Amino acid sequence: MATYDRRSFLRTTVSTIALANLPFPICGEENVEQPTIIRRVLGRTNLRLPVVSFGVMRADSAALVRAAYDAGVIHFDTAHSYQQGRNEMMLGEVFENVPRDSYILATKIQPRDREKGKIGKDMFLERLDISLQRLKTSYVDILYAHALGSRDDVFDTDILSALEEAKKKKKARFIGVSTHRNVEEVIEAMIECGAYDVVLAAMNFQHQNPKRLREVTAAAAKAGIGIVAMKTMAGAYYDKERTKPINCKAALKWVLEDPNVATTIPGVTTFEQLRENLSVNYDCTLTDEERASLIVDPQSKGMSCDGCEQCVQTCKHHIPALPDTMRAYMYAYGYSAPRQAREILDEVSRFFELCYTCGECTANCVKAFPIAERIRDIQRLTSVPQEFLA
Ligand code: SF4
Ligand code: SF4
Repeated sequence: MATYDRRSFLRTTVSTIALANLPFPICGEENVEQPTIIRRVLGRTNLRLPVVSFGVMRADSAALVRAAYDAGVIHFDTAHSYQQGRNEMMLGEVFENVPRDSYILATKIQPRDREKGKIGKDMFLERLDISLQRLKTSYVDILYAHALGSRDDVFDTDILSALEEAKKKKKARFIGVSTHRNVEEVIEAMIECGAYDVVLAAMNFQHQNPKRLREVTAAAAKAGIGIVAMKTMAGAYYDKERTKPINCKAALKWVLEDPNVATTIPGVTTFEQLRENLSVNYDCTLTDEERASLIVDPQSKGMSCDGCEQCVQTCKHHIPALPDTMRAYMYAYGYSAPRQAREILDEVSRFFELCYTCGECTANCVKAFPIAERIRDIQRLTSVPQEFLA
């Protein structure tokens, strides 16, 4: 099988054209003074990663992924479920003839789903094999148990034994957990457990208690757990009308102010976003002006749900899916990603039936999200035929 070095790979892809617009030299180009990419070590994995990686979730352009690789991005994050598997397939096509040790692949598998509930160890490993086939590789660098939200999840023996077996069979070099619910509880449990190498956690400047979050990441780093940040853009807009954009570059830098965060995986769907994100790989210092730009407009509640679950207790029916529903709202209205929002809603939509007959909504959000209004808005997406969703 033919293999390409970065230069020949670059020449053979349309990403060359896109990269011509990037404000820094292309990796591999000669006679050009190259600025240094800032790298950090990912805990005990000892992987040295650029501080900006690539969240592939919403990307459907192979050229965009190639452009990122050519510009020095080496870590690409996907999941078994993204775009019904097409996301992993795209990565498999992009990297088919690229030296395997020149990039880092991370994927995630959810240990439960809507049809089966808990899927168990065997099915988890079957799904991993499907992911590896799609990715055209015999191993992933990081395998996450996807979307864990409690201490019990972290200590779940099915999950742990599936991950450990994947590692033993050399289908995963490192194992971890992704979490956007009860992030602090999950990370503290991972420290206690000791079996995990990496955590992929939601964190951004709109978090209700950044001090506490950073105490937990410090403890995790001390325990050797590598920290990857997601949801760094906090929804990209403050308002659902999309009239108040978040300064995404500043938001990314805010997360990287925490020295224990090794890298970030902002979602990228355009070359413009790629260019902006990658500039942070060369300078991640948050300026005073950028910090000031992140002050939340008090009239806007923002869209980034912390997954703290405090609203659940205030709901008459204690609907456990309220945080997921608010996350779906952020995908649809913030990131303009209705398909991803719908994937979440399909998992939880049965709960909406309780709302129809509930009367006045009592659910309260600690961040003052108007929960009833947001449920009304987002549940309409469940009746849109899939083929109309971007
Ligand atoms: S309307 Fe509000 S209180 Fe009632 S079930 Fe729905 S979220 Fe809970
Ligand atoms: S909706 Fe608000 S209270 Fe509920 S989990 Fe999200 S941030 Fe917490």
